[in-house]
Amino acid sequence: PKPLATRIALVTGAASGIGKAIATRLAAEGACVVIADLDAEKAQAAAAEVARAAGASKNTADVAVGIAANVTDEDAVQAAVDATVLAFGGLDIVINNAGLSLSKALLDTTVADWDLQHNVMAKGSFLVSRAAAKVLIEQGLGGDIVYISSKNSIFAGPNNIAYSATKADQAHQVRLLAAELGEHGVKVNGINPDGVVRGSGIFAGGWGAKRAAVYGVAEEDLGKYYAQRTLLKREVLPEHVANAVFVLCSADLSHTTGLHVPVDAGVAAA
Ligand code: NAD
Repeated sequence: PKPLATRIALVTGAASGIGKAIATRLAAEGACVVIADLDAEKAQAAAAEVARAAGASKNTADVAVGIAANVTDEDAVQAAVDATVLAFGGLDIVINNAGLSLSKALLDTTVADWDLQHNVMAKGSFLVSRAAAKVLIEQGLGGDIVYISSKNSIFAGPNNIAYSATKADQAHQVRLLAAELGEHGVKVNGINPDGVVRGSGIFAGGWGAKRAAVYGVAEEDLGKYYAQRTLLKREVLPEHVANAVFVLCSADLSHTTGLHVPVDAGVAAA
């Protein structure tokens, strides 16, 4: 595989949280990064921040660019992939990170809720992987597709049916695409984070309050609550998920595909 420092990455949902941390780490390793998110201005601001953190002082667009792309929109996804190739001359790494969580119990989940969760995460990552895979196959240089799935893709949690079901869909996309794209040298892996409270827009936007109510703790103590139930007694931060992405995409894991890496301080193993 190409060295990470020469690779080009597209990260969806990277204006915030885990996606921004992934973009930051990949850029710090020398990769060029496209940040695709719903809002163009937020994506551009995140790209400038990511580029500056990677050492760019003036021409931040040489390192990272931000674009608006709703991953549920087939044309917008194609445009994001095209924009990546146009900006940096190719595509090597694709991170399916865009997501949201409505955190609703079965009886409260409407058809619209179900469709939104599945459109953004199951359909959205399918569209991104399909558009990107075409480029990766044509280039003939291999590549990496990483899904930011969830511990909830395997383990049941309360009040979470649509989110968890669509995370399980993503987990199976990893296995299916690992099988289909392996002959092209494209590795497809997943990461199952859990309890990334600090820095997460999902947690700040209402999910945190709902989870805190489910667990009977104050919202400001949620990070500590998650930490104490892990094996390592550690809080998981966006940077820890980004570290796992880096390792999966590095040359050292050139022979690993179809894997899901838990980044949960051991809670799934407990
Ligand atoms: P976040 O809200 O900070 O980041 C999600 C980003 O996705 C946001 O910037 C949002 O604008 C973007 N987005 C939402 N819908 C989109 C769409 N249709 N098109 C493009 N972008 C869209 O939350 P986060 O916690 O950083 O979550 C990132 C990913 O990690 C999600 O897929 C989430 O399910 C997953 N995850 C998070 C945790 C956690 O503990 N925070 C645990 C497991 C999995």
